[in-house]
Amino acid sequence: MSAPIPLSSIRYRIAPLDLNAHLFEVRCTVEDPAPDGQRFRLPVWIPGSYLIREFARHFVAVRAEAAGVPVAIAKEAKDVWHAQPCAGPLTVVANVYAYDLSVRTAYLDTTRAYFNGPAVFLCPEGREQAPCAVEIVAPAGDACRHWRVATTLPSAGAAEFGFGAYQAGSYDDLIDHPVEIADFALESFMAGGVRHDIAVTGRIDADLQRVARDLSRVCQWQIDLFGGAPGSRAPFDRYLFQIAAVGDGYGGLEHRASTSLLCKRQDLPARGITAIGDDYRSFLGLASHEYFHGWNVKRIMPAAFAPYDLARETYTRQLWAFEGITSYYDDLALVRSGVIDRASYLELLGRGITTVLRNPGRHVQSVAESSFDAWIKFYRQDENSPNAIVSYYAKGALVALALDLTLRTRGSSLDDVMRTLWQRYGGGGPGVPEDGIQRLATELGGSDLAGFFARYVDGIEDPPLADLLRGVGIELNLRAAQGPTDRGGAAGKRAERERCWIGARLASGSEPRLAHVYSGGPAERAGLAAHDTLIALEGLRASAEAVERVCERRTAGDQVTVHAFRRDELHATTLVLDAAPADTCWLTLADVRDAACEERLTDWIGAAADT
Ligand SMILES: [Zn+2]
Repeated sequence: MSAPIPLSSIRYRIAPLDLNAHLFEVRCTVEDPAPDGQRFRLPVWIPGSYLIREFARHFVAVRAEAAGVPVAIAKEAKDVWHAQPCAGPLTVVANVYAYDLSVRTAYLDTTRAYFNGPAVFLCPEGREQAPCAVEIVAPAGDACRHWRVATTLPSAGAAEFGFGAYQAGSYDDLIDHPVEIADFALESFMAGGVRHDIAVTGRIDADLQRVARDLSRVCQWQIDLFGGAPGSRAPFDRYLFQIAAVGDGYGGLEHRASTSLLCKRQDLPARGITAIGDDYRSFLGLASHEYFHGWNVKRIMPAAFAPYDLARETYTRQLWAFEGITSYYDDLALVRSGVIDRASYLELLGRGITTVLRNPGRHVQSVAESSFDAWIKFYRQDENSPNAIVSYYAKGALVALALDLTLRTRGSSLDDVMRTLWQRYGGGGPGVPEDGIQRLATELGGSDLAGFFARYVDGIEDPPLADLLRGVGIELNLRAAQGPTDRGGAAGKRAERERCWIGARLASGSEPRLAHVYSGGPAERAGLAAHDTLIALEGLRASAEAVERVCERRTAGDQVTVHAFRRDELHATTLVLDAAPADTCWLTLADVRDAACEERLTDWIGAAADT
């Protein structure tokens, strides 16, 4: 839909300037600049990704002009430029380097152009609420003649998928519609009465019609969850899945009417195949995750984000809810919509539990603390992270599961919580207060959940999943990992003997280098450290296979002499092996389930495929 652009608007123009140098030229024009000189500010972070990224690092040249005459412009801070006073219109012209193959910044080469607003669009200070006109310019050259534009920025005259005039209601709106420009493949489906487009850039050979069919079920299920009835209407006018398929990559970022996804090309399903393999299931989980954010964080948001302050860190203890609950629902939506079956879902859940159990950091950091410190910890992980932090995604999803199953024993559910959050906070306003989820869960569950939140959200206890799952007829089983590639979720081979453990994880790669050394484990006790390279075990050349053999063939308490390089210095030590911890989970349906139990299970994850 195009509407007339108000004269008070800020005008932007973005053009691929040099594909080989990865440079965009971005112009920002203010009709009536501030009398004491107009300031321009660039965000230092992008909503949804809680790290100070300093997008201004990639502004390689900035100048200003008015009526064709240069205007002096100088930096006042890392992210602020100040132009000399002048009569308008004032235009700032920036060359922006764009070569980050992620969903968070910008990318430009001869195969595609992509940008997120926070990485390229300067905001004229004091004009945050002004409407914006945006001209997206086609690159010159024959190589790009098939390029089109995929964005949910509303058109202000541009043809569908065309270059030209777009618009946004405010700066906040402007920077929440990333733009993909390429010769992309396109597929569409309807859900919630709204057209959903899938634009895929990359060298792919995939069954996009199948992706559309599967996503339409997942999306409609989510729309119905929040709408409260089958066949509900989506809360946006259209939706866009922007997908970059590459050799190796993974990531997603949520926006109000779109998501940018980065995946491996093999994650997309091959033609003529109907089974859902691991890779495709993980892609669907990622797409489902970002779509769920269309409600949970983009419209229902923590009070701390309403509005976002993009000049500095914005603290909330609630990312466990906005990311963890979203992580819980991403796979749950796959089984509830019938795209995967119960067994497949239980495998995913078993892997999720395994991931959390293998991180000793859950004993020292709560998910509330992990949320608050995301800026300096979760987003800046290092060799000690497994010992020091808990993932507000992974453990947050288990807290969400525990909360859901707890509420279900009290006649409510997390579905009710999400719907009520949507009704109370989805329309804008002040956002969810820091204790909002606890208060609402208590209100809907009919009894005080302060203890639950104190133990599992603000505290470091593991949620009692074995007990809660038993209530819906599911057994939680634990065993030792059967090797470095064992992610859990399945029973595994019956081990003939107990395995040992060195208390460290090796980095991937050809040489046996320690990536992480776990708190209190054999490697730490022996004085080994992360980044050490193992040279020999019992006098024999070390390798990943040699470590694996030790774990298989030795018994707990055995001593193993180890030679290792720390930097360029050789060290010798003795490892005393431990029994491998039972940190690998798989879930099974209880053999005997009475009718009431089966009903609880069906209410939760839907009916079995054959019933
Ligand atoms: Zn997320």
